[in-house]
Amino acid sequence: MKLYNLKDHNEQVSFAQAIKQGLGKKQGLFFPLELPEFELTEIDHLLELDFVTRSARILSTFIGDEIPEETLLKRVKAAFEFPAPVVKVEDDISTLELFHGPTLAFKDFGGRFMAQMLTEVSGDEPVTILTATSGDTGAAVAHAFYGLKNVRVVILYPRGKISPLQEKLFCTLGGNIHTVAIDGDFDACQALVKQSFDDEELKRELSLNSANSINISRLLAQICYYFEAVAQLPQHDRNQLVVSVPSGNFGDLTAGLLAKSLGLPIKRFIAATNANDTVPRYLAQGQWLPSATVATLSNAMDVSQPNNWPRVEELFRRKIWQLKELGFGAVSDETTKETMHELAAKGYISEPHAAIAYRLLRDQLKEGEFGLFLGTAHPAKFKESVEEILGQPLVLPNELAVRANLPLLSHNMGADFAGLRSFLLGLPK
Ligand SMILES: *Cc1c(COP(=O)(O)O)cnc(C)c1O
Repeated sequence: MKLYNLKDHNEQVSFAQAIKQGLGKKQGLFFPLELPEFELTEIDHLLELDFVTRSARILSTFIGDEIPEETLLKRVKAAFEFPAPVVKVEDDISTLELFHGPTLAFKDFGGRFMAQMLTEVSGDEPVTILTATSGDTGAAVAHAFYGLKNVRVVILYPRGKISPLQEKLFCTLGGNIHTVAIDGDFDACQALVKQSFDDEELKRELSLNSANSINISRLLAQICYYFEAVAQLPQHDRNQLVVSVPSGNFGDLTAGLLAKSLGLPIKRFIAATNANDTVPRYLAQGQWLPSATVATLSNAMDVSQPNNWPRVEELFRRKIWQLKELGFGAVSDETTKETMHELAAKGYISEPHAAIAYRLLRDQLKEGEFGLFLGTAHPAKFKESVEEILGQPLVLPNELAVRANLPLLSHNMGADFAGLRSFLLGLPK
């Protein structure tokens, strides 16, 4: 698979390079040079396969020239160990629940596949993943790499500034996962990571990699669950399908659009945001005017400069699609709360991110269409706010309940680079 840098089309790399490097020159994103397409009969056949076999087949159309399909099958099987069920919410609307993985959010799919691919292309060469987290991504990265050979993971987080439940989720693993509680805020943790990557000796010695969220392997993985959703729908609901995607950095929407470009029958998408509405305003008025990020109930979508948006635009350009065909909208916290109540009254307990996608889907769905919204996180992940809004207690899913009783294994450290450096160099090989 060849990919080019969106900021400099002359920079072309292989899939292996793209996932090791993350970004190209000038911080440019990588984008596939070829956009494969399945014939209609192939799509029908794919939809009859099981999730893992089908996913390996889809991924193989992109990266089969670098990684054989049998290897992909093994890797996908290890990455996608949990289901993505479609659950009916009302007659013409269902949700795709993407939160049955170890960290209860859709990021498990991309994170786990990225971990599998990074270890695959690194071979026997040991690598060290170093990352800072304010909570969620750290958990997904830790679980994704847990127990994999030749890889060590070091995660820095601000001590006392993440929720106790979040801390339990990734600081109780041990093994190849090293967690470090820093006396400082998230910015201090990020600064330490940056300093480490600027230290050429350290970088070389440890083969540092950041495994961050713009990695192309994540997007490829996420294509697979759009196929899985359609495969679960009855035939008559597949023809007029509208998919609503709760969006922050727009990775999930990019993956959905790539699924459509492969030939998956999706009539249109809705890009759903919270008050951080740079994209909806851009689509309505044609001007890109990011404003300061505001904190909302759906905090994983508190992004005002979505870093995957250039990929969305490139795909529309390449496919000669019209941006005006993309549905959009922004939902306030007030409406999000009302919508969570509305869904609860229908018997579906939701959380703020999915509720936003449902709201716009319900409002924009036309007669004869069938709607699907993505459930990006388990309600228990936002336990405090969901319980407060709905006024009823939530049961912790097993994964979380089990971890909540385990001891924390984190090291404590000051926000001091020299200390971190010697810690990193002293880690067991
Ligand atoms: C990350 C995240 C989103 C936003 O996804 P993007 O791909 O960044 O648009 C939505 N909901 C939840 C729960 C998330 O964790």
